[in-house]
Amino acid sequence: MSKMRLYNTLTRKIEEFKPQDPKRVTIYTCGPTVYSAPHIGNFAAYVYWDLLIRTLKLNGYTPYRVLNLTDVGHLTSDGDEGEDKLEKGARQSGKSVWEVAEYYAGLFLRDYKALNLTPPNVIAKATDYIPQDLKLVQTLIDKGYAYETQDGIYYDTSKFSHYADFARLNLENLKAGARVEFSSEKRNPSDFALWKFIRSGEKHDMRWDFLGRPGYPGWHLECSTIIHTELGEPIDIHTGGVDHIPVHHTNEIAQSEAAFDKQLSRYWLHCNHLTSEGQKLSKSLGNSYTLSELKEKGYSPLDFKMWVLQGHYRSERDFSIEGLEAARVRRLNWRNRVARCYQEEKQETHAQAEEYSVSVSEILEGLNDDLNSAKVFALIDGAKSTNIFFWIFIENIFGLGLFGGQEKNNTLYMKKFVKNINTVMNTYNKSINTFCDNLIKNQNIYLKNLRNTDKLILPLLNERSIARAKKDFAESDKLRDELKKYNLTVLDTPDGQFWQYIN
Ligand SMILES: [Zn+2]
Repeated sequence: MSKMRLYNTLTRKIEEFKPQDPKRVTIYTCGPTVYSAPHIGNFAAYVYWDLLIRTLKLNGYTPYRVLNLTDVGHLTSDGDEGEDKLEKGARQSGKSVWEVAEYYAGLFLRDYKALNLTPPNVIAKATDYIPQDLKLVQTLIDKGYAYETQDGIYYDTSKFSHYADFARLNLENLKAGARVEFSSEKRNPSDFALWKFIRSGEKHDMRWDFLGRPGYPGWHLECSTIIHTELGEPIDIHTGGVDHIPVHHTNEIAQSEAAFDKQLSRYWLHCNHLTSEGQKLSKSLGNSYTLSELKEKGYSPLDFKMWVLQGHYRSERDFSIEGLEAARVRRLNWRNRVARCYQEEKQETHAQAEEYSVSVSEILEGLNDDLNSAKVFALIDGAKSTNIFFWIFIENIFGLGLFGGQEKNNTLYMKKFVKNINTVMNTYNKSINTFCDNLIKNQNIYLKNLRNTDKLILPLLNERSIARAKKDFAESDKLRDELKKYNLTVLDTPDGQFWQYIN
């Protein structure tokens, strides 16, 4: 089987992924600033990183992942100017800044769950790490990387010789381009705030004392601190958006590597942003949607997930409702293929159940090729022969809700699955064996909803069979209409009738 290959921003190359530990992989993801309702432009990134986590698991790794929630110190401008986004959110909503953070963190986690995304091992709130932040700032002061101004403690980027490397910045241009009215006491245009002081009279509810004055952390600080506290350097993979490369991640590297004398992360993965008619999707431009707004238009969060996974994380993607509609139809088609497989296998009319026209190793090959889900989706569309295990496998990789919800229940089809899996097993290695063992153990979680639907519908389908045998078509049509109540319709085939979803 092929090894996992990922595009590493550090080297600007696709590299074979080799973690430090043969099993445990440490990952850090820059999370949201919780000051407003998260929109689909934010969530695409988390869908891509969920695919990363699932692909790591598929390759036999045990990912250990930390996601932060920024609840303080993210200013409205990247240049350490402007208002703290959280404080601004609080001022606009009339709530306390703590209430704002808690409310939007709740919304974020609700939507995160609705997208069937793997929960991180640690969700780290920036404000829970202030003592560690201050320790890091003190270390940077002690090592000569930081200096004090009236406005705060700044990082002297000229002291860190690799500063320009990560983003391939041209610091001379940056100097030349610095605005004339630039009035702060910053020594270099690229210097950034580690800690901001609160001036007397300035309203900033979140405040902590440092050097005898009230203040709050600069935005970049929390990521270095949380990584140091929760994971330790170097981590295996750091993820974020392309927008983070020139400032946020460049500054994280400068802070961590200067303070701890170790590489911060061995692999850096960056996803591209979503656009709408060529313009970046963002809250400030008013061209984005929340998942709730998409729901009002009749789209499940999982339709949106399907749309995201149809493309590659490194390409800029143009979002439109028409595109989302196509993804919805594709997902409906897959759900109906799952339902059909289930009904056929139950009736044992599916003679070819053990022969896959797409092998599991082909699917792995696609995912190991820098997370190419688009390629895998095309394989799935083209698969002529599948069985229910194939779909459990697919559902486990993508979490698209193809089986309805997820609940625990007991076994029924175990033997048959084991037989099928053995056929597939010949083509792939031990780590995948473990992965599939888990699938077998948990397959009932997937089948529960199909069984329930089936049970509910069976009496109606039987009545309809009888009506059709008697050529009572009026009755048969009436029974078909009844099914609509359950979002179902019936398909007549030479093998009998099969139910399927309407939407
Ligand atoms: Zn970060």
